[in-house]
Amino acid sequence: MTARAHSRDCLVYEYRPNTLYVNLTNRCTNECLFCARSGGEYRLGCFDLRLAAEHPAADYLSALEPRFARASLPREVVFCGYGEPTLRIDALIEIAGWVRSRGVPVRLNTNGQAELIHRTDVVSMLAACVDRVNVSLNAPDGASYLRVSNPVAGEESWRWVVGFLRRAVRSLPEAWASVVGEALTAEEVSAARELAGFCGTRLLVR
Ligand code: SF4
Repeated sequence: MTARAHSRDCLVYEYRPNTLYVNLTNRCTNECLFCARSGGEYRLGCFDLRLAAEHPAADYLSALEPRFARASLPREVVFCGYGEPTLRIDALIEIAGWVRSRGVPVRLNTNGQAELIHRTDVVSMLAACVDRVNVSLNAPDGASYLRVSNPVAGEESWRWVVGFLRRAVRSLPEAWASVVGEALTAEEVSAARELAGFCGTRLLVR
């Protein structure tokens, strides 16, 4: 099932049964080696996540409402698409708050650069409306992060990502780090796991 607003853009998609995914933007502050965006490919299974335009939060609420009107609520709503959701922090917070107020848990998949982008305490803003955060650590150190994620802000990005992860672990009910296994050596994965542990959480290898 795909819930759509008034345009042809796929705003909300059910990638896993009973879990709704919110496709907020195609923009990102990284160009990861493994990202489908780099090849101009925005397909995920049967879903085309390319957005012709960015849509206001109200369009997402319209797309979500029918799914919340059913007897059985979604298991989880996840902010995840081919783009960085926190680039649209105001829309994210409005939609997440709406979902949370209906008793459904909210997860954010993020590159962890929100506080570099907005230069404010985004973790505290998220603590009010997000239950789980998956931070794409992507690497064990700054040099390999530059190689794997090609951040537009360059070297300084790494310390912001690690800082975001540490603060998210402290402030949110659940936060963990992730890497893409095929982009790293076994030693790098092991070092990333150690870093995640140092930040107080676990590492998910995708
Ligand atoms: S952070 Fe995510 S959306 Fe951005 S380039 Fe990397 S994989 Fe793609």
